[in-house]
Amino acid sequence: MKPHQMHKVDLTTIEGSGDFPCPSCGVKISPEDETENVYTILDTKMKGHSLEELVIQCNKCESKIHLIGFLASSPPSPK
Ligand SMILES: [Zn+2]
Repeated sequence: MKPHQMHKVDLTTIEGSGDFPCPSCGVKISPEDETENVYTILDTKMKGHSLEELVIQCNKCESKIHLIGFLASSPPSPK
């Protein structure tokens, strides 16, 4: 049994403000929450100037969650 599970959440499948429950413990996680009370940002992956993937860790259950779908959620701005 692994102490730290890895989950993947696609933000394009989330409706509303982007909040989603932790896949492991169910605590409410908001990508726009910058206080890091609920989760800690471990890594960010950029593609050009856009955020491609965000790796966070739930502070409650310590699960690692990979957030994807940022590119699809924001239309490309014309040059
Ligand atoms: Zn959790």
